Amino acid sequence: MTTAAVPPHAAGPAVFRAGCPHCRASFQLAAADLRLAIGGSARTTFYSFTCPECGEAVRKPAGERIVELLTNGGVSTMRLA
Ligand SMILES: [Zn+2]
Repeated sequence: MTTAAVPPHAAGPAVFRAGCPHCRASFQLAAADLRLAIGGSARTTFYSFTCPECGEAVRKPAGERIVELLTNGGVSTMRLA
């Protein structure tokens, strides 16, 4: 009798590595924990989350690659006028 092994990196819900500048914790976040705001320029495009360790709101600039990664991963996007 054999049991099917589950691959170690099976495709599942996307998780994103993030770090907190306040308490310096690093952790993984699910798409639902992240918000992406897309503004008119790179300077107003950022993603944000609440640190699960210290509860601080963290906001970080999102470059093109990050925007693509987050939107593909199902992160809810907010467009800033
Ligand atoms: Zn923190």
